[in-house]
Amino acid sequence: MEDTDTTAPSAGPELNPTQREVLDHLGASATERPTFDPGVAQSLRSYLDDSIASLLDGPDGLGLTEIQRQRTPLFIAKHALMLVHNCEGLFVAESEVPFSWSVHTAKGTIVHKAIELGISWDGDPVPRMLVDEAIASLTESTDNIGDWLYGLSERERAELRSEAVEMVTAFSEVFPPLEARWRPVAEVRLRAEPHKGAVILSGRPDLTLGQPRGNIAGKVIIDLKTGAARGHHTDDLRFYALLETLARGTPPRLLATVYLDSGTIRSEPVTEDLLTAAVRRTMDGIARIAALRLADAPAELRPGNSCRWCPARATCAVGTQFLSELDNPDRYDPD
Ligand code: SF4
Repeated sequence: MEDTDTTAPSAGPELNPTQREVLDHLGASATERPTFDPGVAQSLRSYLDDSIASLLDGPDGLGLTEIQRQRTPLFIAKHALMLVHNCEGLFVAESEVPFSWSVHTAKGTIVHKAIELGISWDGDPVPRMLVDEAIASLTESTDNIGDWLYGLSERERAELRSEAVEMVTAFSEVFPPLEARWRPVAEVRLRAEPHKGAVILSGRPDLTLGQPRGNIAGKVIIDLKTGAARGHHTDDLRFYALLETLARGTPPRLLATVYLDSGTIRSEPVTEDLLTAAVRRTMDGIARIAALRLADAPAELRPGNSCRWCPARATCAVGTQFLSELDNPDRYDPD
């Protein structure tokens, strides 16, 4: 955050203990902020450029020319990386299911828009009002969610509003009111285009606070979640840290996942080792996604809990076998 002592919020509404904890967790004094080597972003860029060049253009390359001929870069986002590192069959199966808007898929977009409006709203914003304004704004937008919102039935609209209000209310009770001096930004777009744009890495963190001063890190990248903590939440934020570093030159200071249901927070400071791990994981994901998409490589199946919601579940023998063993009560027999 911008000010040196974020544990001293401006005069305003009294904070509840969870808001106080979140504030203490995310804030840092000037002396606690790390200074990064000015060459860190360039070294990450070079690693990506060289690795992608050898992946596509090398003797056994997958064919940059094919990507250029089709004028279709390889788009990589955190969700694709999560899937391909989880189970490649799951990645392929999800790629074949066309995206469609529903109350479930639209809820996050509405919530993020409501939070974005709340940041600049004068006075004390009421969650229901912010959600209604978010729905109205997105209905008028040229984004394709606008068409879907326009055609909503009354029941769907009520469900969407109810679920979004619940999340925005939780956000307002877990986070302290966001002060302008913390430079809060909701859903900022981050993008990198290594190797002449053959690959496009993109992401939109839910919320960022603070900013760097030269090579001194100051930004906090935050993802908001409902439900339980998952291992890939950490990887998602590390991917954002990589994008932020590639796009802005100075890494963020802290990564934090805030769980709105439980009012808990998990965070880790950004280091050069963390960025190295992130760029390697990203490159491993790019390599496998390129192989699966450009070279029809066979997908490596890694059964796990995701078999339960995998679109290929009905036809995947490996997943079916795994689930039947998992659900077998004898598996839990202590003898
Ligand atoms: S059912 Fe399981 S093993 Fe099969 S593709 Fe899906 S996630 Fe992978």
